[in-house]
Amino acid sequence: MPTESADSLEKVSREVIVCTKCRLCEARKHAVPGEGSESAKVVFVGEAPGEQEDLQGQPFVGAAGKLLTDLLKSVDLRRQEVYITNTVKCRPPSNRPPRKDEAAACRPYLDRQVALIRPAVVCPMGNSAIHSFLESNESVTALHGIPFEIQSVTYFPMYHPAAALYTFSLRKVMEEDFRKLRALLNSISD
Ligand code: URA
Ligand code: SF4
Repeated sequence: MPTESADSLEKVSREVIVCTKCRLCEARKHAVPGEGSESAKVVFVGEAPGEQEDLQGQPFVGAAGKLLTDLLKSVDLRRQEVYITNTVKCRPPSNRPPRKDEAAACRPYLDRQVALIRPAVVCPMGNSAIHSFLESNESVTALHGIPFEIQSVTYFPMYHPAAALYTFSLRKVMEEDFRKLRALLNSISD
């Protein structure tokens, strides 16, 4: 029986929506907690909500989101069966990268989401998200498509889908990384 104090994704979302723990609350229209399945095998973590996400309160609903949805489909995954969120839950002004103190303030929400879902794999997408999990100076160019484990959580770094919108050749690289992710998920659930 869940007790009154038991944590849940819904509780995290309710807290995020009214959160004022960092300056990113000031200009946001909507905080974007994340969405997807509580029993997701994989959690995707982007950088921060953009304009569309801020307007709609949902993650990855703009152009990068459409590409993410297509990449998921290409390996037979639906958005509803994964979980999609960001390192910070509120849009930084002019889409600047989140600052260290903002990411640190927001971090407990992401940690709670991952702890509640207990996915087989966490996919940080792009340098911001990758470096929020992994202390490394290496960029996504070196790290993408190679799983690593920290404290028994498996991470699978990927390019950010927005990068593939600007650099078309990355689309093929991302498709290949999604196939590798699919194989990794299959091997874990075997
Ligand atoms: N880019 C991100 O990093 N996150 C979103 O939710 C949308 C675009
Ligand atoms: Fe709170 Fe995170 Fe939004 Fe900052 S970015 S106000 S910590 S929810």
